[in-house]
Formats: sequence, structure tokens, C-alpha cells
Amino acid sequence: MKKVAVIGAGLAGSEAAYRLAKEGIKVDLYEMRPKKMTPAHRTDRFAEIVCSNSFGSFEIGTGSGLLKEEMKLLGSLVIKVAEEFKVPAGAALAVDREKFSKRITEILEGHPNINVIREEVKRIPEDYEYIIIATGPLTSEELSKEIEKLTGSEHLYFYDAIAPTVDAETVDFSKGFWGDRYGKGSGDYFNCVLTEEEYEIFYNELIRGEQVPLKDFEKAVYFEGCLPVEEIARRGKETLLYGPMKPVGLVDPRTGKRPFAVVQLRKENREGTLLSLVGFQTKLKYPEQKRIFRLIPALRNATFVRLGSIHRNTFIQSQKVLLPTLQLKKKPNILFAGQITGVEGYAASSATGILAGLNVSRMLQGLNPVVPPKTTMLGGLINYITTPKEELQPMNPNFALLPPLDKKIKDKRRRKEEKAKRALSDMKKWLDELHTVPV
Ligand SMILES: Cc1cc2nc3c(=O)[nH]c(=O)nc-3n(C[C@H](O)[C@H](O)[C@H](O)COP(=O)(O)OP(=O)(O)OC[C@H]3O[C@@H](n4cnc5c(N)ncnc54)[C@H](O)[C@@H]3O)c2cc1C
Repeated sequence: MKKVAVIGAGLAGSEAAYRLAKEGIKVDLYEMRPKKMTPAHRTDRFAEIVCSNSFGSFEIGTGSGLLKEEMKLLGSLVIKVAEEFKVPAGAALAVDREKFSKRITEILEGHPNINVIREEVKRIPEDYEYIIIATGPLTSEELSKEIEKLTGSEHLYFYDAIAPTVDAETVDFSKGFWGDRYGKGSGDYFNCVLTEEEYEIFYNELIRGEQVPLKDFEKAVYFEGCLPVEEIARRGKETLLYGPMKPVGLVDPRTGKRPFAVVQLRKENREGTLLSLVGFQTKLKYPEQKRIFRLIPALRNATFVRLGSIHRNTFIQSQKVLLPTLQLKKKPNILFAGQITGVEGYAASSATGILAGLNVSRMLQGLNPVVPPKTTMLGGLINYITTPKEELQPMNPNFALLPPLDKKIKDKRRRKEEKAKRALSDMKKWLDELHTVPV
């Protein structure tokens, strides 16, 4: 029996293979490029970054900055090489993409414990003790079918239709009311109320909002019946009032009347710190989303922790099929890492690759697999993707994922800094307890 196969040498697969190899474990690293390309990759290199050359902010008062700091503690290859080839970009970690992925490819191809196999994996191999699947948002079709068999077809999604999510602390709850339609359920929805005049202004801006153009390989999404909210609006002034903004079954307890229109916010996590706009998947450009959705009175000062989008993205419903250790519940010798687990973006995808590599390495040494504390950004993300909920929509690193502090701090910036301090201290303590020496 061979030891480990890592499938996909993208960001997550590169981290996982590196971690294992550094710990003395033999790895077969499968990558289908250049024999078979994805619709977004352009080269045969590992850890190719397909769009922006930025890994996001490096300030630890931002979700992605904190995550990168934690990744350094975890010995991340991606962050190490990104810093080597960084280019000036203000507070963001941006890289020379060519040199970045060339260097990662050289490191992995040159490692004596890594055997690179340039092949598309079409069947999940059975002759390995452990397998890490890290084939990303554009996993090839044949392998997707195999993953469907593993997880059940209802647990593999092929595109995101993401509605924006706001930080609950920034919603003006005086501009609406909590309550489910027809009084059913346990009052988990907050209804942002709009008067006829407010609706008119909102509607007129929405239909004029600037959209992100669709890439060819994304067009299919529309045929799957997933319409952006602005498209629904363009079909007529009333359509939203019979769709995502319908007020039926709702009575505003402040007036005793049915509101003219509502935008419902739904809790995205158990703690209710994240609220998403129900039915508001959108292709509007990011600045347009903020401008237009802030016309909803309850969201006038809202902080958007994630903006809406619709795009091709293969990802599993981790909250149903994965353990927090990233192992498949049904077959714990198979782990998933990267964007396919429901995390979003370069840094978060890479970080889950480190955890998958670490856990496989531990299991091969007869140790139990582990999960970082929920107070860390990586632990918060893992907690988010694996906590039971009806539907998982991909998530990027943000502070609303972390539990509240023991003491109340009013100032938003200071609150984030305190959470970041706690996260880094907890990550260090956790690593000390694991006796993990960063590689
Ligand atoms: C069009 C587009 C634009 C994006 N823009 C951004 C952005 O600006 N910023 C950002 O942070 N994130 C962006 N993302 C998301 C980002 O690409 C992912 O978060 C990140 O690359 C995920 O890392 P990963 O390792 O999970 O997957 P990937 O980096 O995609 O790696 C997966 C690897 O698996 C290989 N593979 C797939 N199937 C098989 C198979 N059957 N056998 C063998 N190999 C296989 C692929 O060739 C690829 O190398 C974008 C994604 C897309 C599709």
C-alpha cells in the first residue's frame, strides 16, 4: 500500500504535499495540467493564481491578514514564497504571479519525497493509505462524478449563487422586525422594511446597477435557473414584490400592518453574528452592491463581510459530509482541502491544505487528527464549514466567524485587534501543545 496521494497541485494541494514531504512522508502529487487545462488556469505550474495577484490585506485587523499571520505560524509554503516575490500593493500582499508559481513548482518537483504525476485523476485511487482531494473550484468533470458518488449528488454543488452577508452588529434593527412568514418557525428572520417610496428608489438603482460580465464557462449557471436579483427586477417593477422582497405573511408589529416590501436577513451561523440577504444572489460589481444595498434602511451603515456573486464553483456540503479534521465522515482516510470544502479565496484555500497535510501526517504517526481552536481564523472557518446547517455557501475569512470577546469593546477596530491578538496567542498555544515545529 502506498502512503499518500494528493490530488490537485493548486494552492491547497501544494501546501498539503509540502507539509507531508517536510515531515518525511512520501507523497504522490497528481496534477492534470498541462495535459488537461481548467477554464481558468493558463500554465502548467503549481499553485497558479488564476485572477487577481493579491492575497488580500496583511493587516491583522482584517480577516485575511489574520489568517495569513496564522499561516506563517503553521509554516505555510504559499505565504513564504509570496513574501519572497511580493510586489508593492499598499496594505495587501500581492505577488509576481509568474515567479511565485514557478518557485513553488521548483520546490515541490525538486523534493525527494514528492513524486509528481501529471495526470487527470478520473477514479479515486484505492491503493493509498490516505488521499487528499484538493482539485478546487474547477474540478474536472469525471472526478466530480466520482466525488458525487462519495458524498451523494445532493452534496456536491457546481456553482455559487452567493447573496451578500452583513455583520449583524452593523444592522439597524429599529428599521424592521424579527419574524417568520405566517408566524411559522422560531423567528429566525429579520425583515428589513421598505416603504413604497424607499422601494421605488431602491428599485431604480438596482435595475441600473453595473454588473460583472459573465465568463463563457459561467454562462451555464443561468440555465440552471439561478437568476441574479437585478435580473428578476428587470423583468418588471412588481416582480421583486412577488419574489425575494414579497411581504406576504408578514405583519409589522410596530404598525400592525403588512409592510410594502421587505428584505429578509437570515442567520448564517448559530451565533447569529452573520446575516445574509435572502434571495439576493447578484452579479452587480462590488462597489455597486454596497451602494445599492445600503439604500435598504436597516442596512444604511452595514458592513458587508461578503459580497454577492454567481460563478462556477465545485464545492461539497462540508457541514454534512466532513468532520472538522477535514476527513470524509463515510471514509475517514479521504480528506478534502481547498476551495472544494466551501472556503473561499487563495489564502483560505491554502490554509486548509496545511491542515489536511498536518492531519494525514499525524495519523500516519499514530496520532489523532486535530482542529485549530475556534478562536483562530482557520479554526473559525473550519467551524463554519462543518457546523450543521441546511445549506453551506462558501465563506471567506472574517471576524464575525470568531466568538465574541469576554469583555465588550464598542470600537469596531479595537474589537478586531483584540480578537486577532487572542487568535494568534491561541494558535501559538495550540501548536506548542501539538509539538508541531513549523516547517
Ligand atoms: C475565474 C476565477 C477567478 C478567481 N479569482 C480569485 C481572486 O481574484 N482572488 C482569490 O482569492 N480567489 C480567486 N478565485 C478563487 C481561487 O482560485 C481559489 O480560491 C483557489 O485557487 C483555490 O485553491 P485550490 O487549491 O482549492 O484550487 P486550485 O488552485 O484551482 O487548484 C486545483 C488544482 O487541481 C487540478 N485538478 C482539477 N481536477 C483534477 C483532476 N481530476 N486530476 C488532477 N488534477 C486536477 C487543477 O488543475 C488545479 O491545479 C478565483 C477562482 C476562479 C475560478
